[in-house]
Amino acid sequence: MYRLNVSHLNYRSLAIRWQLWCLKRTTVGVICVFLLHFAGPNGAGAQPIDYNDGPIMASVSTVKVFLIFWQPSGAPSFHVGPDANGDQKFKDTIQRFFQDIGGSDYFTLARQYTQPCNKFTPCSPGPLSFGGSFDDVAPYPRSPLQNQDIENSITRARDANSWDVGLNALYFVLLPAEVQVCQPSGACTGSTFCAYHGHSDDGNVIYAVMPAIAAMNVDTRGGCHFSYSTAAGINSFVQQIYIAPPQTPNQLEADEEIVVASHELFEALTDPLTGPPSGAWFTGYNEIGDECNRMVGGIVSEDGGNVLLNGHSYLVQEVWSNAHNFCALGPSVSITIATGDDNLRGDELVLGQLVNNGSEADVILRGPNGVLLEEVVLKAEHDPEWANGSINRRVFSFPSDSAKLWEVDIRLVQHGGISPDNWKINGVDVEVLNAFGQQVCKENIVGNPILKELTESDAIYAIATPTSCH
Ligand SMILES: [Zn+2]
Repeated sequence: MYRLNVSHLNYRSLAIRWQLWCLKRTTVGVICVFLLHFAGPNGAGAQPIDYNDGPIMASVSTVKVFLIFWQPSGAPSFHVGPDANGDQKFKDTIQRFFQDIGGSDYFTLARQYTQPCNKFTPCSPGPLSFGGSFDDVAPYPRSPLQNQDIENSITRARDANSWDVGLNALYFVLLPAEVQVCQPSGACTGSTFCAYHGHSDDGNVIYAVMPAIAAMNVDTRGGCHFSYSTAAGINSFVQQIYIAPPQTPNQLEADEEIVVASHELFEALTDPLTGPPSGAWFTGYNEIGDECNRMVGGIVSEDGGNVLLNGHSYLVQEVWSNAHNFCALGPSVSITIATGDDNLRGDELVLGQLVNNGSEADVILRGPNGVLLEEVVLKAEHDPEWANGSINRRVFSFPSDSAKLWEVDIRLVQHGGISPDNWKINGVDVEVLNAFGQQVCKENIVGNPILKELTESDAIYAIATPTSCH
């Protein structure tokens, strides 16, 4: 998951520094993301990713993704439980993800990370296509596996299929449960990374290494496994902090793997030679996946997915978008609300005791004919107060491949047991951004003096968007 330079032993000290940073990051990760949550728009505080002169993965035809499932006979499964077809479902789901992602707005996020180009050198990562899958049944030479063993597996797959190498070919090597792999630096599965991407010494073979994180036992999977806390509710803004779906859209093990695979895919495309000295898009120790590490974000639909790719629901990680200046999934909706002279309450200190009496407001996004797209939390019950006269902005990744927004409903949901409650809104600004962060449409309404007062019995304010949003 974290980027580690796996190939240059002469950069060992750098790798160790990265490893220490990863450990530190693992320990404090929750706190980091909490800060993001409370600092305002998601991703606030993260930094832009810089271009460092290296190549990206871009092709005049396509960049192909090749999958290698390395599972000798007698090796563990990729999935947990008794399902006899579980491994096949795992493989099919991962394969379908890579078949579906290339044409999506989610993938378009990568296209902004360009390189100097001419008619022989393409500018943007991709276009992406699926190259094929291979079952490697060669025995494991040792345990834990070492990075050289991974490169040998790729060689076997290439020999069997005449598959290409270079910046047009990206290999994902997937390992079954409890099969550990270690970096040249000594970092091993579960302790410091969930997966990693790297390249051969000559920079000619680009790959990602993917342990089966969902199928690992609790001691070895480290912080890589989903957390099933649902305290914040499935659609809450808080949900952006950590992966916590009560269900996932496909097979659980494949879905967990896809969250990590999406991270590695975007990083390999935009920084295939992994940071200094030859890399492309990175800043400090971060690539575009790291800035949004394990943030699934967006609008998590009822099936647990947060993007629709080619009509199929998946749960993926957000990636950092310089164009948006936040972690994104593609198109997004920005909603800014100016509160009038009646606040949206947060929890309060009463005689030194914290009283849970905060208010909650949601936003409902609708398509044509009022069809419900998604309902998301605008301000969670225990979020800080939206004070009188304050301006509050929230950004939500749009759930579908193409952003069509016909109506936005702002709804006062609850008020911490204090009744009746009301909330005065003085201005609303709705903005739809495309996958490049450019404005698609905008609706701005200002009250004089008050736009709308929401109460328990009149709890919804419906805003029709202009036709440019449709
Ligand atoms: Zn990473």
